[in-house]
Amino acid sequence: MTDQTSPPVRRLADWPHDRLERLADEHGTPLYVLDTDRVRENYGRFSAAFPDAHVMYAAKAHTGQAVLSTLLDAGADIECAARGELQRAIQAGADPNTLQYTAVNPPKADVEYAAQLGEDHPGLTITAGARDTFDRLEARGYDGRVAIRVNPGIGTGHHEKVATGKDAKFGIPAEQVPTLAADIADRFDLVGIHAHVGSGVLQGDLDDHCTAIERVANIARETTREASVGLEFLDIGGGFGVPYREDEPPLDMSEVGERVREAVGDMDVQLALEPGRYVVADAECILTRVNTIKETDTATVVGVDASLATLIRPAMFDSYHPIRNVTAPDRAPEPVSVGGPCCTSADVFCTDRPIARPERTDLLAIGNAGAYGYELANQFHSQPRPAEVAIEAGETRVVRRRETLDDVTRVESN
Ligand SMILES: *Cc1c(COP(=O)(O)O)cnc(C)c1O
Repeated sequence: MTDQTSPPVRRLADWPHDRLERLADEHGTPLYVLDTDRVRENYGRFSAAFPDAHVMYAAKAHTGQAVLSTLLDAGADIECAARGELQRAIQAGADPNTLQYTAVNPPKADVEYAAQLGEDHPGLTITAGARDTFDRLEARGYDGRVAIRVNPGIGTGHHEKVATGKDAKFGIPAEQVPTLAADIADRFDLVGIHAHVGSGVLQGDLDDHCTAIERVANIARETTREASVGLEFLDIGGGFGVPYREDEPPLDMSEVGERVREAVGDMDVQLALEPGRYVVADAECILTRVNTIKETDTATVVGVDASLATLIRPAMFDSYHPIRNVTAPDRAPEPVSVGGPCCTSADVFCTDRPIARPERTDLLAIGNAGAYGYELANQFHSQPRPAEVAIEAGETRVVRRRETLDDVTRVESN
């Protein structure tokens, strides 16, 4: 858990190419390959940078049982943002008393489930970012542990669609927090102030991110003073990024730890964090086979069997994912566009990017697919979702079998 020695970044070139070839032959493509040892290392490196903090893994980045049980085994607690995530965390062995549930516009069934879970397991904490959600919890008879999600008015991160810190959808506006705190302190056990301001924060975003954290910490201090409540924790959420581009440096975690503590300042509460992406992103890659190559006057188009149904981040967030020719990494690089079999021009993984010249049947790897990768996979074009294999201590095992068309149609009727 105090592992500070693992490499801070893992590039595609660091994956064992022979083994990737064998896995693709054995399990077919597209295939998700998860390295649970790397998940453990990432969690260890993160925790080591925050020795006195409470580190929870944000499950929504990758809710696979293999990931959750690896992290539980490594000593992590889990933050869940939906009923299904709570259920899967419990299935993976989490003690409900240690779970934190972040309610964002929660459906009725989620409020019911979380309230019941909290009644049965009083250690559960529910975080809410709307007065109305607290009212709904109270109406359901819940009076247990709660935290207030604050909107600091600053969002940070790699894309507008993940910068939650200034979006009115997330959190209570700063100036309303002390009043709300005084109000709900009578109705619940108010234990924390929470914020999650963005995602994909790298070294260059650190100033903004720390300004937001400073603001949240000030709100927590004000709340403690004005509402005379004794808080247990200040939770600054996740958002810590990994380098997706080959030439980007990784976050220097000891600097991050220092900067965050500085931004939080003097406070008599425990610091809590909820990393998602940082823990899983570089622990997984996707293997995909080249189907078709087309040369035109303007482009070389490499058609692969992965698509936006396999990995939607490029289509949804314009995300860059590294791509490597695993079969022939040493061939001369040529600018190519790589895309899948879906009938939309959004189904491209890269455009005119230099890659060791792919040939038909070559195996390509798409890197950094562990966070919001399988989690956002879908069945567009009636494509069953891929299998996922885990590598652990040199052994491999299937942790998610490949779906069949039956899995896609099972829930249908005429
Ligand atoms: C998504 C989310 C996280 C994790 O964000 P990352 O950018 O993956 O670290 C943490 N906390 C909350 C409340 C979230 O919604």
